[in-house]
Amino acid sequence: MALIVQKFGGTSVGSTERIKHVAQRVARWHARGHQVVVVPSAMAGETNRLIALAKEITPSPDPRELDVIASTGEQVTIALLAIALHGEGIQAKSFTGPQVGVLTDSTFTKARILKINQEKIRKSLSDGSVVVVAGFQGADEEGNITTLGRGGSDTSAVALAAALKADECQIYTDVDGVYTSDPRVVPEARKLDTITFEEMLEMASLGSKVLQIRSVEFAGKYKVKLRVLSSFEEDSEGTLITIEDKKKMEQPVISGIAFNRDEAKLTVLGVPDRPGTASQILGPVAEANIDVDMIIQNIGHDGTTDFSFTVNRSDYSKALKILQEVKDKIGARDVVGNPTICKVSAVGVGMRSHPGVASRMFAALGKEGINLAMISTSEIKISVVIDEKCLELAVRTLHKAFGLEKPQKSKLSLTGRDETDIITPS
Ligand code: ASP
Ligand code: MG
Repeated sequence: MALIVQKFGGTSVGSTERIKHVAQRVARWHARGHQVVVVPSAMAGETNRLIALAKEITPSPDPRELDVIASTGEQVTIALLAIALHGEGIQAKSFTGPQVGVLTDSTFTKARILKINQEKIRKSLSDGSVVVVAGFQGADEEGNITTLGRGGSDTSAVALAAALKADECQIYTDVDGVYTSDPRVVPEARKLDTITFEEMLEMASLGSKVLQIRSVEFAGKYKVKLRVLSSFEEDSEGTLITIEDKKKMEQPVISGIAFNRDEAKLTVLGVPDRPGTASQILGPVAEANIDVDMIIQNIGHDGTTDFSFTVNRSDYSKALKILQEVKDKIGARDVVGNPTICKVSAVGVGMRSHPGVASRMFAALGKEGINLAMISTSEIKISVVIDEKCLELAVRTLHKAFGLEKPQKSKLSLTGRDETDIITPS
């Protein structure tokens, strides 16, 4: 018998029909003697609808009140799901986040979970009930309702799994796992059986929007076994997000090719080569709340240097304007920019122990005539900035260059799971 936390996304609970379907699925796990905690999102589109209602009244509603309204979406689905479970002949009880003791800080609309009181959940579980807990919400010390930021029910599920020391946290969503790249760009993209937390974080921040990033960080920190699976396909085993096991695993060098379309590049030319200029350039950008991604400064030459960085495309004009002012202040020569670039990255913990990944990557791109505007690396990621016109070609080229279409070599048994960790519904 295992304790499992199952999170169902908005589309999985998008209609009463689908909620009944979820109930049947949960029922099968329960029937095998597993203890199940279910965390549904709001019905698809509902959170948007609720927030839009508030914004019909004023463009910037009070965040405390926004949370009161946004949290109701999940309050509806928990009760519907409990009722559907009753229909399956199963004892089930729904609880809101505050009811069950999800304590958060008071940062309305993006609160952080501080503590979860397990008492109520444990009691209901031991009575034989399936416990349905509203995702996305909690309450602060004063009892104010809070929400955890968009997509936050992933984090609710992981936090509950961590608090309850669940055997597995299963995230049911409309994709059946994490892929080696976006299948819309690379038709040969393959579902990964496993991916490490670190890789997942790199993939997620690069645009593979499968899970809320915070939930992955949380799972890594508390060593929660996290699995992403399809809510519609019954027998897929999804992707297990694991801790890197240096002894046991034959790691693929590269696990995936991620990309981000919405980037823009800015360059300050002829920056006087003296201490403090980097902060004079980036300080005002940060003050304007613009996130800077890659930063590159060239070697000084004739007492000046060029300084480039990338931002999200939506911040491009704002950043350009700031740099025009900065340029005059620091005595730089010119400011140029390009709002039609994108970033492509190869991600894999295997590159730690395999030299030559970068050169292989650059050779493959060079052969296709793709020009690299910027390069940056971390221990498990190599990113290049290229013209957006070349994005599809670059992603496909790299996917092929690293043989990602071929099945993964891994430690997994035929069932796709660690032999020791098999949990099955039937
Ligand atoms: N319903 C919330 C949202 O749409 C939380 C979630 O779905 O994870 O952001
Ligand atoms: Mg979601």
